[in-house]
Amino acid sequence: MRSLFYTALVAVCTLYLACSPKNANRSAAHANHPNNPAQWDTLGKPMVGEEAEEMLDYNLLEEISVEPRTSINPDSLQPYHASHTFEVDLIHTKVEISFDWAKKRANATTTLTLKPWFYATDRVTLDAQNFDIKSVNFEGNTAPLKYDYDNKKLTVYLDKSYSRQEEFKIAIQYTAKPDERDDVGGSAAITSDKGLYFINADGAIADKPMQIWTQGETESNSFWMPTVDKPNERCTQEMYITVEDKYKTLSNGLLLASKKNADGTRTDYWKMDKPHAPYLFMMAVGEFAVVKEKWRGIDVDYYVEPKFEPYARDIFPFTREMLEYFSTVLNYPYPWQKYAQIIVRDYVSGAMENTTGVIFGEFMQKNKRELLDDHLTNEKVVAHEMFHHWFGDLVTTESWANLTLNEGFANYSEYLWMEHKYGRDAADEHLMNEQNGYKYSAEEGGHPLIHFGYENREDMFDAHSYNKGGCVLHMLRDYLGDEAFFAGLNRYLKKNEYSDVESHELRLAFEDVAGQDLNWFFNQWFFGAGHPVLEISYGWNAATQKASVTVAQTQEGEGVARVFNLPLAVDIYDVMGNATRHNIRLTNRTQTCYFDCAVQPNLINFDATKSLLCEKTDQHTQAEWAFMYRHAPLFRDRIEALEGLQMEEPSVLSDAVYKEALSDKFYGIRQQAMSADIASDPSVLPLVVRMAQSDTEPGVRIQAINLLSRTGDEQYRSVYEQNMGEDQSYSVVGAAFYALLELDPAAALEASKSLQNDDSDAFIPILSELYASMPDLKHIAFFEQHLAKTDGYSAFPFFDNYQKLLIGLGDEKMLDDGIARFNAISLNLETSEWRRFGATKAIADVRNHFQEKGNTQKVNALNALVENIKAKETDPTLKLYYDMF
Ligand SMILES: [Zn+2]
Repeated sequence: MRSLFYTALVAVCTLYLACSPKNANRSAAHANHPNNPAQWDTLGKPMVGEEAEEMLDYNLLEEISVEPRTSINPDSLQPYHASHTFEVDLIHTKVEISFDWAKKRANATTTLTLKPWFYATDRVTLDAQNFDIKSVNFEGNTAPLKYDYDNKKLTVYLDKSYSRQEEFKIAIQYTAKPDERDDVGGSAAITSDKGLYFINADGAIADKPMQIWTQGETESNSFWMPTVDKPNERCTQEMYITVEDKYKTLSNGLLLASKKNADGTRTDYWKMDKPHAPYLFMMAVGEFAVVKEKWRGIDVDYYVEPKFEPYARDIFPFTREMLEYFSTVLNYPYPWQKYAQIIVRDYVSGAMENTTGVIFGEFMQKNKRELLDDHLTNEKVVAHEMFHHWFGDLVTTESWANLTLNEGFANYSEYLWMEHKYGRDAADEHLMNEQNGYKYSAEEGGHPLIHFGYENREDMFDAHSYNKGGCVLHMLRDYLGDEAFFAGLNRYLKKNEYSDVESHELRLAFEDVAGQDLNWFFNQWFFGAGHPVLEISYGWNAATQKASVTVAQTQEGEGVARVFNLPLAVDIYDVMGNATRHNIRLTNRTQTCYFDCAVQPNLINFDATKSLLCEKTDQHTQAEWAFMYRHAPLFRDRIEALEGLQMEEPSVLSDAVYKEALSDKFYGIRQQAMSADIASDPSVLPLVVRMAQSDTEPGVRIQAINLLSRTGDEQYRSVYEQNMGEDQSYSVVGAAFYALLELDPAAALEASKSLQNDDSDAFIPILSELYASMPDLKHIAFFEQHLAKTDGYSAFPFFDNYQKLLIGLGDEKMLDDGIARFNAISLNLETSEWRRFGATKAIADVRNHFQEKGNTQKVNALNALVENIKAKETDPTLKLYYDMF
């Protein structure tokens, strides 16, 4: 799992270390509520889209964390990560657990029901990491069993040899010490595999809730319970969780009892009576507001911090509608007892599909206005984790090498939901972003989707397992047709429910349904690497009355097919815009396909369903691109046409098409059109004004406002003011505010007073930039007011602008005081990484300022502070970034 913070850090480092300050600040204001939701959709995924591409250029983490590949010995077998070999089968897990907040420990007894898998055995080896083991015995028999423990594996010696017909129950009493590891460190991944997390355990941070939560994937739940910590294991579960009575608990399955204890604590009894994998076990403890709904008779619960209770249903948008939709489209009702979703603090990933208890990071917790800006991220993440309840939880990858059987499906659920809820255009735009994310990451080297040769299992959480996995499923759907595709998924689920799978089981399910061999598809897309790279050209011969498409496959690379087997649709358009569809199959490195065509076609549209995952060079004329925009039906047709036109010299025709695209039915196209020069043409401005006033999509309104702002024309002042209302999305207000600032700084300063009162962090980037740009003593109050609590993305621009203001004020004492405050935050390891990074960066920036001034004494003093911070910092990734300062 990757942390949201590090993804953000990469972005911010790009903004603050690479961009000019002005652009950086503007981008940062938007980064708080990105238009491209994929940036927030961490889930272990890389960012996608153009901005992300820029950002990833600065992704030092990627470079630093890559370990040199061990040289391959041709005389040895290559690395092969097989599925786990079973000695015993875990049938049931009972955990009785309580917590020591002060020591960040858990005291527990876990009782495991086991039996030999096949061969008789007199011992059991369990994953049990970093425990103090108190006792090991059969349940109900206090006589101790002998055991060996090496701090990772617990080997229990039984009283005799057991056969596979004989079950036995072992009770292990222990203390879990997730914060007392001596093997923590080395990479971002390792620091976040504690399994059990205590948040603000001593309550020292005001306004921050005290919480406990778990994160099992990949193999970390064995830091708080002994188990067989492998994805192909599966058992039922009971949890007795004892907490102070003020706390709520959440775990898998149903809450069957809640008992108050004599010491003022309470024990909640949760039971999951359907088997699932140990990595999907979860617990969460804290003071949550719980909003309850029902769907088909089961509980649908939302756990949020009390402040967000009014927005809980919107934070987890359309949960019930999604349960209904996925149950219907799969023809397989949601298989579990309840559906609960919870948001926790300092979460180490984007979200996690723990069976019936999904944990999300704080990025989901938004108010109404924040959701106006970005509700799609929430929807996609909710869909992703929910779909895992079929693909991942009900049917589980047998090993991390097959991870795409979990993540490819979850990724594709985002497409399914978008298509169902918002239509094909929105879904196809999403798919394009997913494809681009994969293609970008493939530039750094690829691997087969099913990847037994990985170096570290955490590396499997990449744009192959997620993005490419989803894209490949989409191609399979396109090839088989909807009816066969969803029938195949249904067969796969029914045949493999409550068990683990490898990709052959998926292939066999589709083969059974569609009645045809699919080895060729699985071999090239699941077991081969890479994707086709195509050069496409078109022709028409008047003499033979044939149209033609010539396709050259030019892909190269280890494990990449020299020739992909590609079934595709080709549409041939007549002058009226009517298309005739031809189905072709490419099976040669270079191949020309001919079609009967009495008159010259106006357009030949290759891959007319636009589902192929490929890189392509398409040789269309300007007239053909224009025709494509006007007549081909899909989002991808229209966006590729606009991009094709943009590659060429502007003409009357391309300007006309771009003008039409400003009124396209889909906002993604309107946004693309807005980026063309024609959008600034005076003849278009009335339309742009209307878009700024009333486009339903905040992203379009923002672009329209920016365009108007560039004119510097006073007549648009009212458009800006009208967009600053309290019912507008934050980023629209932000854009309008910037536009006003360009036009009339005094008016903007006046308007900023009302923005200050918003209780979200949304305006902190904007306001802090404004105040830093107008150094005035009275602006210090704003920074002081927000210093203690500004966190997350906002922390970066906040600290940056704070130091700029302090420098701008030119008061040495005030600057020294500010540095002292930054230093205290940097050294406080209990405060978030976002704040520590922001504060340390601010000190380094002040030092750079003095360096430019030639003030050696100050430079030395500030250098000493930075070095001291670096020495005391425990987070390896932060240390790496500090080295850049
Ligand atoms: Zn996932």
